[in-house]
Amino acid sequence: MNSTRINREQNITPRAAARYWQATLARDSRADGTFVLAVRSTHIYCRPSCPARRPLRRNVIFFRTREEAEQHGYRPCLRCRPNEISAQVALVQRAAQHLAQSSEDGSSLRDLARMLGAAQATLRRAFMRVTEMKPRELAGALRLKRFKALMRSGKSITDALYETGYGSSSRVYERSNAQLGMTPATYRKGGLGMKLEYTIATSRLGKVLVGATQRGVSAVYLGDTETSLIAELRKEYPRAEVAPAPHSFERWVKEIMLRIDGKQPHFELPLDLQATAFQQRVWKELQRIPRGRTRSYSQVARSLGQPKAVRAVARACATNPVSVVVPCHRVIREDGALAGYRWGLSRKEQLLARERAAAD
Ligand SMILES: [Zn+2]
Repeated sequence: MNSTRINREQNITPRAAARYWQATLARDSRADGTFVLAVRSTHIYCRPSCPARRPLRRNVIFFRTREEAEQHGYRPCLRCRPNEISAQVALVQRAAQHLAQSSEDGSSLRDLARMLGAAQATLRRAFMRVTEMKPRELAGALRLKRFKALMRSGKSITDALYETGYGSSSRVYERSNAQLGMTPATYRKGGLGMKLEYTIATSRLGKVLVGATQRGVSAVYLGDTETSLIAELRKEYPRAEVAPAPHSFERWVKEIMLRIDGKQPHFELPLDLQATAFQQRVWKELQRIPRGRTRSYSQVARSLGQPKAVRAVARACATNPVSVVVPCHRVIREDGALAGYRWGLSRKEQLLARERAAAD
């Protein structure tokens, strides 16, 4: 297969390929994130700005995203690390998460920078680079209730900006998406920019994997073997940096063990979840079900004020990443049958039985 043909399959026009090649020759860091170049002779792919020697043009294939390059069997270059997101994108993402969660109406760039531990100028530059917004526009957006509401509802920052009329030219929109290396819909998925550490404990229900970021617990999985749980975690967060951390959040693990034993929790566990607004509402509602008690999917839907959303509630339960902490095991079918459980029905049964015994 020659490179022209492969590039045509990636929907990269000859003109775009020529532009990419120019950026590659110039090691233009502004093009980072808009495409990667794969080298056929080495099976490695790079960012445009990679400091390594330039390959021969005839050995180069371009891909829009690193995922595509990897699907074609290329491995990330160890020098330019094209599989890691740039510090600027990571900073903007952290800022976006913070904005989405904070309840104040008007955070200034200065407050935001202080909160993130970044210099104001650094934050401003990162925003300019990623969203192409001038500081004044950015400040305006930050003050906008609607912008914040969109962020809270799970929109990506570029989507939220677009929908509130900032950066509304499609060129800006496309460019910022390209720089994030993915489409807006997947922006929050996959744990991009997340640093996830995990530890595995042994409980009465078998192995328990607890995954957490600095901010809170992101995963509680139950299973038979460590390897299957770790594989599950990597599948759930394919873009996150995942590493073992045997002792760093022992307090949280102990707290989770209490709940597995059906006992009274000692404290509210901080959670760091990637979720849509609806999932968040369902998961909060589940946390209101008392220990040892159950609700049906339609009861949960009704208490959310959306009686018709039974299937969506069931889906939100099935996708709950923090089992036990968000007690999706307390939701059962209308007729009292246990319905499904991601970690096996017998675990659901045991959890409920132990909770009932401990709550009596
Ligand atoms: Zn490289």
